[in-house]
Amino acid sequence: MKTLTCDLCDHEASAQTFEEWMQALKPHYGQAHADVMASKKGTPEEMRAEMTKWIEENKARFDAA
Ligand SMILES: [Zn+2]
Repeated sequence: MKTLTCDLCDHEASAQTFEEWMQALKPHYGQAHADVMASKKGTPEEMRAEMTKWIEENKARFDAA
């Protein structure tokens, strides 16, 4: 079980795997950082690239934890 903070604030989420951690963080992200998600809105390609980058950065953080 790993506990990692949100990449935007100090909200913590715990999970066994990165995929579970991402699921655990999703409701928090939608509530606390809806403005950030809205500001990243672009073409589907841009949003996919942004999401891929986010996943890579946070997976690295999760693996290092
Ligand atoms: Zn947060």
